[in-house]
Amino acid sequence: MTEPRQAHRLHILKVALDVPLDGVFDYLSEAPVQIGQRVVVPFGPRRQVGIVVDLADASDVAPAKLKSIIQYFDQEPVLDGEFFSLLKFCADYYQYPYGQALLSALPARLRQTEPARARQQFCYWLNSAGQAADISAIPVRQAVQRRIFAALRAHGRLNEAELAELSPGWRKGLAALRERGWIEEEQVYAGLGSTLHASSVQPELNEEQVLAVQSILQYRDTFRPWLLHGITGSGKTEVYIRLLQAVLEGNQDQALVLVPEINLTPQLEARFRTRLPQFPLVTLHSNLSESERLQNWRLAQTGAARIVIGTRLSVFTPLPGLKFMIVDEEHDTSYKQQDGMRYHARDVALVRAQRRNIPIVLGSATPALETWHNARNGRYGLLTLQQRAVSQSQLPQVNCVDVSRVQMQEGLSPQLLKALKVRLERGEQSLLFINRRGYAPVLLCNACHWIAPCMRCSSRLVVHLRQGFLRCHHCGHEQNIVRQCPSCGNADLHPTGNGTQRLEETLTRLLPEARVLRVDRDSTRRKHALSEMLSAVHVGEVDILVGTQMLAKGHDFPNLTLVGVLDTDSALFSPDFRAAERLFAQLMQVAGRAGRADKPGEVLIQTSFPEHQLFNALRVQDFAAYAASLLQEREVAQFPPCEFLALIKAEANEYGPVQRFLQFAADSARALGTDALVYDPVRPQMERLKGMERGQLLFQAATRQTLQIVLRQLTPQLRAHPLSNKIRWAVDVDPQEF
Ligand code: ADP
Ligand code: ZN
Ligand code: ZN
Repeated sequence: MTEPRQAHRLHILKVALDVPLDGVFDYLSEAPVQIGQRVVVPFGPRRQVGIVVDLADASDVAPAKLKSIIQYFDQEPVLDGEFFSLLKFCADYYQYPYGQALLSALPARLRQTEPARARQQFCYWLNSAGQAADISAIPVRQAVQRRIFAALRAHGRLNEAELAELSPGWRKGLAALRERGWIEEEQVYAGLGSTLHASSVQPELNEEQVLAVQSILQYRDTFRPWLLHGITGSGKTEVYIRLLQAVLEGNQDQALVLVPEINLTPQLEARFRTRLPQFPLVTLHSNLSESERLQNWRLAQTGAARIVIGTRLSVFTPLPGLKFMIVDEEHDTSYKQQDGMRYHARDVALVRAQRRNIPIVLGSATPALETWHNARNGRYGLLTLQQRAVSQSQLPQVNCVDVSRVQMQEGLSPQLLKALKVRLERGEQSLLFINRRGYAPVLLCNACHWIAPCMRCSSRLVVHLRQGFLRCHHCGHEQNIVRQCPSCGNADLHPTGNGTQRLEETLTRLLPEARVLRVDRDSTRRKHALSEMLSAVHVGEVDILVGTQMLAKGHDFPNLTLVGVLDTDSALFSPDFRAAERLFAQLMQVAGRAGRADKPGEVLIQTSFPEHQLFNALRVQDFAAYAASLLQEREVAQFPPCEFLALIKAEANEYGPVQRFLQFAADSARALGTDALVYDPVRPQMERLKGMERGQLLFQAATRQTLQIVLRQLTPQLRAHPLSNKIRWAVDVDPQEF
């Protein structure tokens, strides 16, 4: 029996919207609509994009008041249930409105009310006329045309990425060939990157790698987190590649590989394309144009892409065939979102793996203490790669220079200068690591000790001598360099301390024969600047690299044998409880830059505290020992991973309302009878930022559950508070720092 047809049956839709309110909204639709479809609805005076999250027969809203859908996007693939449930979980856990969580997980194009068009790409091949033609028909000076013709002959079909790899001017060359009537084309939907350099050469795995691959594959169809712990160069990526080859059996199977912010992606991407050419691969990161991003996201959503390499946000990408996840450099701080929904992509990945019942591998040389803790207590499997994969390469020698005992020359110790000279003579490369871009960290008056402050933040202005201005690295404020001390009138102001620019200048003066290259956020602003610089290093056009943490990870320079580390001491005694953990991770990473091939490397650290246990652990590259001592400290302090934290952050033009709001939060939380420890509102270390007065309230509890219970009750009360929309505030669950 079929149901009687109803000509005008109305459907009630539950629609999630990008508005800072809890819950979903009811709308009417005349046409049937699917769950997961995008729609445009009226909301107040505006039109908004929404997502249909549920269908209903009735609504609490009076029928006359219900508004109708304005527009449907029924040609688009719909979002699946896993997407909804994952974001629902995150919205709850991170105390963020569900609709906003959902919409902010979509590519920007899908948040706009216009129909979303993804970029289209084509691939090309020679038709029969082209096949029959001879290259001599193309004049010799048409080099690009010839190159493309020859490549099409050799490879059959080429996509846009591959043509671009042949020559940046490929479009013209191809157009000319097309004019000759030799070209056929077709739109492509997957595998858009280049696999011109595909290689089937597989190194033979060493014993530890074999064990890692086998262990993980044993649990291929269950939720099982693994920590793959191995220093840079120990062969983790090789393990990933083997796992992907083995896991992606069925032709629907997909894998998600999370990587830290983009500077790692191109290298890893190239390697995956070379070694896994059989799997269409897309990337998702912030360097893509919006149309590329949408295209890649769609390829993932429809299952056409089999491997997705992406940064933080891609953890939410719909992947119908997801079988396996990797989080590379899992300790990296860029996995934590710092505004909007403050999720941690690694933690979300773990939740996703659990719900899908699939394995997940967390890879790192210096795991986050959370991860390490879980691996030690057996909740995660622990797999260790002790050896560098390429056997002849050795661990670097780590030495400290006690800067309180030597005569420094503009921030450089005699030991470091000598070591640099030795490298120059040998034709080897050096890297100087300093975590401060600009010329000097402060502008100081020698007479009264006035230091140029940022007017909008509780911070100092950094001297950028070359550009001739002072800049705040927290808010971006810029002003001309002050010539006279505003406090005492003294005209003798000095840039004090070292930044990358000054170090570059000093080196050029002290070692005039050296070719120095500075790599920091300022020098790499231009698109492709970083990759051009890195290739200059590779071909040996650089003797000394001066750089910030940008250089710490992922780059392999075989001829680099010395790493000098300047100015780390502030992090040793920082009030930020994770500062030491991060410093250790960074130093392990930079140390990993030295001596990767067959040349032994040396790391020289300039410090006033050469006996600090952090350096001792670094000297023997003993992560476990250092982690054990940090864990002990955390236990005593009741900090993560031993206990759990949440923070309510608030800011406004003045501190009064911030204080009142946070005090209300503290009182309400206590009134709820929570087991969590509720501190009093305080000012954070950076009291003022971008002209806003800041405050915060810390919660500490023995379990996540305890925090969740109190936050779940508290957040609605805060949203309802009269100050709620007069100040800016947010809940940060599992904050990285406070
Ligand atoms: P990681 O990801 O831990 O930094 P990689 O997987 O990149 O390490 O390995 C470092 C280098 O060693 C790479 O050049 C890689 O090709 C090579 N390599 C890895 N495993 C092996 C192996 N079993 N035999 C030979 N070379 C290997
Ligand atoms: Zn002064
Ligand atoms: Zn500022």
